[in-house]
Amino acid sequence: MSDGIVLGIDVGGTKLAGMASGGDAPVVRTEPRDDSPIDRQVVELARRLLAAASGSATAVGIATPGRVDVDAGVVDLAVNVGAEAVALGAAVETAVGAPAFVEHDARAVARLLAAEGGHSDVAYLSVGTGISAGVVVDGVPLAGARGLAGEIGHQLADPNGPVCACGLIGCLEAIASGPAIARAAMTGRVAGNGAEITTTADVYRRADAGDPDATAIVDRAARHLAAAVRGLVLAFGVTHVVVGGGVTHAGSPFERPLRRHLAAEREASILVDRALAGTTVAILGDDPLVGARAATLVARQGRVGGPRAAAPPGEEVGHR
Ligand SMILES: [Zn+2]
Repeated sequence: MSDGIVLGIDVGGTKLAGMASGGDAPVVRTEPRDDSPIDRQVVELARRLLAAASGSATAVGIATPGRVDVDAGVVDLAVNVGAEAVALGAAVETAVGAPAFVEHDARAVARLLAAEGGHSDVAYLSVGTGISAGVVVDGVPLAGARGLAGEIGHQLADPNGPVCACGLIGCLEAIASGPAIARAAMTGRVAGNGAEITTTADVYRRADAGDPDATAIVDRAARHLAAAVRGLVLAFGVTHVVVGGGVTHAGSPFERPLRRHLAAEREASILVDRALAGTTVAILGDDPLVGARAATLVARQGRVGGPRAAAPPGEEVGHR
């Protein structure tokens, strides 16, 4: 039995990844998500990690999609994991008897990238089941007054684009997320040689093989993601942008068109050229534990930044 175990748990669209560090040996567990309430699953994983590490926890960090109230440890609007007003922090604290810190997943990774790289201004653009960004400015993660800063997946990309899961039309997420890319390919029946395309990775593979329809879909996504990178640099003045998430695991078929569109933007606009000069744009690469490592950092750092005041339910932006 050892004390001083720090837990980091990452809640993903399809799985949970957790790690226990500080004990005799680090313990890592990845589990598929089921349909049970997310707080119960996180608590179960925390217990299993502690049992495997043979210790008690000193702090827990949880990275999750959705809107996170870092003060209350509550997550809501996490449509992809079915979490609506879940008191994740309190549930975990009660179960493991240690302080729990909940952070938005992309913001947690941005904090990790800032800490590991020694950068004060970083944006992490996550492109997976959904699209969102975590931004660290002057060393502080930016949550905004409503905890929704960085949710650029629901910025308009194309007014003639598809309907988004959020209800709006033409959101970036409706064009460049993994499901959006797969759906576009299915709609266009890209499936060559009678093969049925069902995954985003397939679309990138076929684009890489020269399929013109798949290439068009991939290129369109890349154009809008390049615009998103530009938007992050212009809006927040970050000097480092890292793009990660499941869609980026396609590798160079993802990266090449993104860099081509970034270069085209710099070619077309001296303002964008100046803004992007000296800005590093990197692809994170396939690191299945980055979320758990980020959550571990959140556990160690505790609350940094966060909404200045929680908005009362029903209050609309701009009403006073
Ligand atoms: Zn949307």
